Amino acid sequence: MRVGCPKEIKNHEYRVGLTPASAREYVAHGHEVLIETAAGAGIGAADSDYEAAGARIVADAAEIFATADMVVKVKEPQPGEWAQLREGQLLYTYLHLAPDPKQTEGLLNSGVTAIAYETVTDAHGGLPLLAPMSEVAGRLSIQAAAHALEKAKGGRGVLLGGVPGVAPGKVVIIGGGVVGKEAAKMAVGLGADVTILDRSLPRMRELNDLFAGRVHTRFSTPTAVEEEVFAADAVIGAVLIPGAAAPKLVTKAMLSGMQKGAVLVDVAIDQGGCFETSHATTHAEPTFEVDGIVHYCVANMPGAVPVTSAMALNNATLPFGLALADHGLAALNADPHLMAGLNVHRGKVTNRAVADALGYDL
Ligand code: NAD
Repeated sequence: MRVGCPKEIKNHEYRVGLTPASAREYVAHGHEVLIETAAGAGIGAADSDYEAAGARIVADAAEIFATADMVVKVKEPQPGEWAQLREGQLLYTYLHLAPDPKQTEGLLNSGVTAIAYETVTDAHGGLPLLAPMSEVAGRLSIQAAAHALEKAKGGRGVLLGGVPGVAPGKVVIIGGGVVGKEAAKMAVGLGADVTILDRSLPRMRELNDLFAGRVHTRFSTPTAVEEEVFAADAVIGAVLIPGAAAPKLVTKAMLSGMQKGAVLVDVAIDQGGCFETSHATTHAEPTFEVDGIVHYCVANMPGAVPVTSAMALNNATLPFGLALADHGLAALNADPHLMAGLNVHRGKVTNRAVADALGYDL
């Protein structure tokens, strides 16, 4: 198969669909790999690194869209890219179609067969191609909180780890899933006092065992959220109710009970946010203040660390990508978890949630 990877064109997207290491594996499987020149520049991968991996560098994306059997990307295709996709071509990337009727129409009109990273499943009910980005965001959330807590950044001037003779900062994590667990690891590593709130008792049992008494767990009720948030230096919002907008667990009224200069990091902002006062921000201007409380609400947190994020993403996407390249559409029939990723095929929506959200028949 001819596998192509264009340079990402979405604003401030520095990741790349294929790292040189991934390109080398496709080549080893007997595939021809086309990489747009400078596609890896954002992660420090030069054209020569791809050439050393056996890939061919092409001058622009048009050749990839016109000739590749499979296009591997990171972000959803932009309008200029939909127009170039073709019937019979495989597209393998994040799509997030449910809230995006225009892109869905563009993909349907192109006739492309589109596999969305975010709906590929695993045997444990997880989303294996989304999890690495939650891991990155969870770990970053504590860096963001620590930074925002500095006085010069508008924070209350607390060092999360404390020092001998001074108590550590208090970190409250709402939602103990992938993001919450990774945030807890970083906060514990810094020496902070960490509490995780969740609604799932089995999950809290797992976390309790994993952290062996190093974190507190608490069942998430409005009362518990209020008590914990009032005492917190930093609150990490990491809840997810699959398929739904995030519940607003910290209200505007609660802010007045918090310590001035405390920090709210709303990782769930990509699902609308779990703090009432959140609105999406960017890496260029990540924080804002409401009632003396610093808010960090960057919607694409992994974009801050594209080297790590691109590698983490490739680790997860490579096995499925190789299966697609080796077997074409037969790979979907052979693996129900990969089939779950199929969102659009030859002018038809093939994913239940997307069809329901946008009013298409399956
Ligand atoms: P997950 O499903 O692994 O975990 C979510 C957890 O929230 C679960 O343990 C669930 O029991 C818990 N929960 C649900 N309702 C709750 C409540 N009322 N109180 C407390 N806990 C509750 O999800 P995840 O992968 O950790 O993702 C969390 C959020 O982070 C999602 O919205 C995801 O889209 C987002 N995310 C954002 C970025 C970013 O760049 N901003 C990056 C990755 C993920």
